[in-house]
Amino acid sequence: MRVLILGGTTEARLLMALLENRPDITAIFSLAGATKVPVLPNAQTRIGGFGGIDGLKDYLLNHDIQAVIDATHPFAATMSSNAAEACASLGLPLLRLKRPAWVPTAKDQWITVPDLHHAALALGETSRRVFLTTGRKDLTSFQASPQHHYLIRSIDAPEPASLPPSATVVLSRPPYTLASELSLMREHGTDILVTKNAGSESTKAKLDAARALGLPVIMVQRPTLPPVRTADTPQSALQWLEKLAH
Ligand code: NAP
Repeated sequence: MRVLILGGTTEARLLMALLENRPDITAIFSLAGATKVPVLPNAQTRIGGFGGIDGLKDYLLNHDIQAVIDATHPFAATMSSNAAEACASLGLPLLRLKRPAWVPTAKDQWITVPDLHHAALALGETSRRVFLTTGRKDLTSFQASPQHHYLIRSIDAPEPASLPPSATVVLSRPPYTLASELSLMREHGTDILVTKNAGSESTKAKLDAARALGLPVIMVQRPTLPPVRTADTPQSALQWLEKLAH
């Protein structure tokens, strides 16, 4: 069976590792090309957009794909919607592999917002030292709140024109530990954290650090996606594929 895995997450890479040396399942891995030096699996990989829903449908037909696993990031809403529409229209089985969202503990002080624009507004009028971990895209929302200083962490450097006026950029790649997050937040005098609800184990330590320091967290909620069958671990995605293949 030939399956297309839409990647961009740790879970996608873990699934690809589970699919190595499987003569019954040929997995083709797909990345958007968003990260300059991506971590690639030991398998056939394609990089770059498909060209919308029609481009994806053409790709699925031309490459004789029999099933699709959407293992993109929970905030990759366009790709997930395109996969749902293309697979529905071609009658192809689709599984969405998305890790569960983080949930607050009794000790957390979360302010939940629907998007980055509202995250910037929720920072308020008083100048704050913000730890911004929402990625390098769409930072322009924070230009509307220039009274704050932003510590911006991303894997690749953000576009300089997208930055708010007072910003320090640190480039690094997960995983992070509680000790490293506490040290970074203390060093920069962070008084509030802004994050998307990615749900990743490898980036969760910032929430533990904010809780330990008694800091509020502005949590951007996940976008709503078309309803499709969903798995929350690479192992359960593999089981779904095995059932399809046999
Ligand atoms: P998006 O807004 O849903 O997608 C934008 C476009 O990028 C899609 O329409 C598609 O282009 C292309 N694309 C996205 N994922 C692709 C994939 N796996 N293979 C081929 N093309 C893909 O997604 P995004 O938020 O820009 O994220 C881009 C990539 O970064 C995704 O793979 C995602 O898993 C990863 N990522 C995203 C975030 C985040 O916070 N959004 C964080 C970490 C990693 P066409 O329409 O031309 O097909």
